[in-house]
Amino acid sequence: MRYLKDATIWTGEKLIENGWLLIKDGAIAEVGTGSIEDGESVSGKIIMPGFINMHSHLYSTLFRGFGISIMPITFKDILSEVWWQWDKKMDEKAVYYSALIGGIESLKAGITTIVDHHASYGYIKGSLRSLKEAVVDTLGMRADFCFEVSDRNGKEPAEKAIEENIEFAEETSGSSLLSAHIGLHASFTLGDETLIKVKKLTPEGIGFHIHLSEGIEDEIITRKVHGKSPTARLRDHGLLNQKSIVVHGIHLDEEEKNILKGQDVIFAHTPQSNMNNAVGTAYIRDLLQKGINVVLGTDGYSLNILNELRTLPLLQKHTKRDYNAIGLAELIKIWENGYSAASRLFGIKVGKIKPGYAADIIVADYEPFTPINDKNFYGHLLYGMTDRLNVLDVYINGKKVLSDGNPIGVEYHKVRQEAQAVAKKMWERMGYNA
Ligand SMILES: [Zn+2]
Repeated sequence: MRYLKDATIWTGEKLIENGWLLIKDGAIAEVGTGSIEDGESVSGKIIMPGFINMHSHLYSTLFRGFGISIMPITFKDILSEVWWQWDKKMDEKAVYYSALIGGIESLKAGITTIVDHHASYGYIKGSLRSLKEAVVDTLGMRADFCFEVSDRNGKEPAEKAIEENIEFAEETSGSSLLSAHIGLHASFTLGDETLIKVKKLTPEGIGFHIHLSEGIEDEIITRKVHGKSPTARLRDHGLLNQKSIVVHGIHLDEEEKNILKGQDVIFAHTPQSNMNNAVGTAYIRDLLQKGINVVLGTDGYSLNILNELRTLPLLQKHTKRDYNAIGLAELIKIWENGYSAASRLFGIKVGKIKPGYAADIIVADYEPFTPINDKNFYGHLLYGMTDRLNVLDVYINGKKVLSDGNPIGVEYHKVRQEAQAVAKKMWERMGYNA
């Protein structure tokens, strides 16, 4: 049992000044205002629900500062010449430290739940357990993992990747901190034989996590080889359900959007990555108007979901050359969809500071210089906090996991030193000497 008091609290619905809250058994038990005797004072700070990252690639964490010597031309070049080489060179240590450092960076950015799409063809069996050990067991985050099945390296590695997914998914039941998907790369690198096998081996009630229509290649190759759109193909293989996450969806036609709505999938949008890879823009208003569950993810581009929130409207407005291409109400909907999706995956309630919700909260320094209230909180989130929010403490499932900016349970400077050594070796395997 723990009280936090003297805070400004954004509950997800209203802003409370001089508020307090009680955490009990991993959940929010009570919220109130005024002074109370017990508890830790967080005067001058703002408390709010922790953030959700619905699509990340922790395996790219140690790429920071890596020198690319090649010049990819198409999106497929970016994959085949950079990322598919990178993931083949990963060993157990590289996977573990990518996840540990990436998890710490996420906590510092206020993220309490991370849904990660993992690839490490250099280290398949046991890799998801390494992620769990780093992110959930060591850092205390709420996380969902999967391994990216693909036929790009041949049949045997694809089979091992399927096994890794299935074994891990079977192990995760019973924990509200851990969840699993069956990971798939994208339609254009997956043959029918593999998809049939994946579906056959996957236990009921598990979702699939897959890139969809990111580069135009996915549409062109799938239609040419299989005679249908990638979305129709995934549906026909029984891979789209309420827990399935499709990512990007940039080149979808109307029929594909209707399929996604019909299957009630989660749709992850990653604006910064899409801009960086020059793959195009998914028109978010169209998707929302169809009732598709659009959520936000970082992809491999960053580990800061607030940066994605900031970029989302910029990309829509810029691409359409229309100031009204997206509005604040739509951004709020997407932000809240992230909480609904996380609640759906983990079987608990997250995203509000209200009795009965999991105590996944952040305590941060934010110094508004204009009025802040119930009505304009999201204006501050979008234009102020995305620019400068200093996350101090993080609680997940009621447990303090970040204290004054430092992860609890690891010595941050030692982890960073070790990660640097692991990254150097990883870069050497890639033929780059820093
Ligand atoms: Zn991705």
